[in-house]
Amino acid sequence: KEFAQISLKDIDDVAKSSFPLCMRHLFEKLREDHHLKHGGRMQLGLFLKGVGLKLDDALAFWKAEFSRKVGAERFDKEYSYGIRHNYGREGKRTDYTPYSCQKIISSTPGVGDHHGCPYRNFNEENLRAALNKMGVTGRAVGDVMDKVRNRHYQLACTLTFEAVHGSSCDAGINHPNQYFSDSQKIMQS
Ligand code: SF4
Repeated sequence: KEFAQISLKDIDDVAKSSFPLCMRHLFEKLREDHHLKHGGRMQLGLFLKGVGLKLDDALAFWKAEFSRKVGAERFDKEYSYGIRHNYGREGKRTDYTPYSCQKIISSTPGVGDHHGCPYRNFNEENLRAALNKMGVTGRAVGDVMDKVRNRHYQLACTLTFEAVHGSSCDAGINHPNQYFSDSQKIMQS
């Protein structure tokens, strides 16, 4: 199941419509701070690779942000390697796969980190605000919060998906890239 490759020019629109909350959060933080720590670069970087962002576009995307914080030269020296590495162009040349929900949920972000699963890591107030921003309102918010309280983070994400898309997701969400492709299927139908 191949989907249209995402291009840099519509990445912001696509992030709003089809990224799960974990990736929206990283995406927004990157746009805001022009920087992400290592865990965030890995989580978002591999996800973007999984949705079809080409290496050249990925380098341009990260460079545009990081340059504003650390300068283009430092980006080329310190950060571009990691991106090429994710695409299997450096080191052991492994083609790294995007992280599953299970892996993301079990990660342990520290201070200043923005990776991990927001359903698990956000406090209630921030999670409610983030859900509202995605267009989840009313009873659906309470339903999501119930799942979170019972630590059913993937079910919370599935309910969010259903509220945002007005469509059921019977298989449930188990991978951010699955969230993305199921979303695109609905958007393009
Ligand atoms: Fe991301 Fe999975 Fe958490 Fe949803 S449940 S926010 S896709 S890690």
